[in-house]
Amino acid sequence: MPRVDPEPAPLPTAYITHPACMKHEMGPYHPECPDRLAAINDRLIASGLDVYLRHYEAPPVTREQLLRVHSAVYLSEIEHASPSEGLHFLDPDTALNPHSLEAARCAAGAVVLATDLVMRGECRRAFCAVRPPGHHAERRRAMGFCLYNNVAVGAMHALDRHGLDRVAVIDFDVHHGNGTEDVFSGDERVLMVSTFQHPLYPYSGADNPAPNMVNVPLPEGAGSIEFREVVREIWLPALEAFRPQLLFVSAGFDAHREDPLAGLRLVEGDYAWVTRELCHVAGKHAHGRIVSTLEGGYALSALGRSAAEHVKELVAG
Ligand SMILES: [Zn+2]
Repeated sequence: MPRVDPEPAPLPTAYITHPACMKHEMGPYHPECPDRLAAINDRLIASGLDVYLRHYEAPPVTREQLLRVHSAVYLSEIEHASPSEGLHFLDPDTALNPHSLEAARCAAGAVVLATDLVMRGECRRAFCAVRPPGHHAERRRAMGFCLYNNVAVGAMHALDRHGLDRVAVIDFDVHHGNGTEDVFSGDERVLMVSTFQHPLYPYSGADNPAPNMVNVPLPEGAGSIEFREVVREIWLPALEAFRPQLLFVSAGFDAHREDPLAGLRLVEGDYAWVTRELCHVAGKHAHGRIVSTLEGGYALSALGRSAAEHVKELVAG
């Protein structure tokens, strides 16, 4: 009998979070609430996906890793703003409680760990189920529920620590990722492609400030057809031309039609579809490597369902 070598087992998908991310709270009625992570986790368990994930606890980000993205003055401001009790508001929507700083450090640290895992070949993909989110945080400013720009910290780590030349940031959150744009606009090592509802908070992004920023605003009411057309016609050719060695996803699920904070009309199937398309790009240029991190998504059931579809494709794609 000829010996048949078994197929090598596919590399696992990492699921990275930290208990501190459940302790960061900005008041009883704030939509960016700890239940968001519970909704995702519950759905992954209920759908049977959880057993296919390798779980990791996020380490705190280091000051050196943050300084690649944020100014030293800003880091000091955030540290000094951390309250010993109650809430300290940085803007009308963004506050710190006594656990927020640790949560933010672990949220950014999760994306760094995810980057290390995929670059070391221990995992092929990673999903960071973390909060606070990050894509509105600018170099010198917290805003829009965001403290540290998690995805930017990960992307800079991939460039500086792992020596990559080209990384892509894909942002399908319903809000424009102004913070990520602030960090990477004009940096030719990074291609950012995004869709977002416009006009809507933070009211930026209608113009592309540099060739490496591919912003595609969508009008209120746009749904699957418009989104998929943009991805096919604009994102995928841009990604194909750029040939990213690693893909980062700012995975906000607030463009879902059930989301209370915005007016796009995506459904779970759109998140599965776009993730499959990104897996295809990653397979062609990046050894399959994708690091995805949670941004927005405020309708809890829709968030759980959408994130589960996204993770399912990361595992299978
Ligand atoms: Zn958002």
